[in-house]
Amino acid sequence: MFLEPQVKKGWIEVICGSMFSGKTEELIRRLRRAAIANQRVVICKPALDTRYDISNIVSHDSSMLQSVPIAHSSEILELAATSGAEVVGVDEVQFFDEQLPLVCEQLALQGIRVILAGLDMDYLGKPFGTMPYLLSVAEYITKLHAICMVCGNLASHSYRKEASEEQVLLGAKDLYEPRCRICYHQHV
Ligand SMILES: [Zn+2]
Repeated sequence: MFLEPQVKKGWIEVICGSMFSGKTEELIRRLRRAAIANQRVVICKPALDTRYDISNIVSHDSSMLQSVPIAHSSEILELAATSGAEVVGVDEVQFFDEQLPLVCEQLALQGIRVILAGLDMDYLGKPFGTMPYLLSVAEYITKLHAICMVCGNLASHSYRKEASEEQVLLGAKDLYEPRCRICYHQHV
């Protein structure tokens, strides 16, 4: 029987949106489908995101997959190499260092499917971390929306209810609420 040579095809997918838009759920859905097809899947998250569990990626609906905490994005290259990963998922990409886009491009060149999830804007409504770069180099982009807690329209902003000037303010679901553009700027 003639078997065709396996052609490696790598690319970058980005899942972005506000808080409570279901980014992690969507990441997990894609990774689960790949795992069901017996593809070797590796999941990473920033080491500083310890809100729920140190070794598991947990979305707000508590669906869970084993993940590896990463201190610097270069570790993702090593992890992918040692595990022979075909699919690499990265959650909370906005918290990674500036090398992450380069790392993702290298992975894709190696034939790996890279799936990234993260916030596109911080609580000030400004582009978050390397997300603008990642959106530019990605082959596929999915922008998810939450529901505005004030008016019920689609929400794209993460509104911080308590005053603090720190960009990285982790966890604390109750510190933020999703809002549409209009309600975000009304500060009601
Ligand atoms: Zn609204």
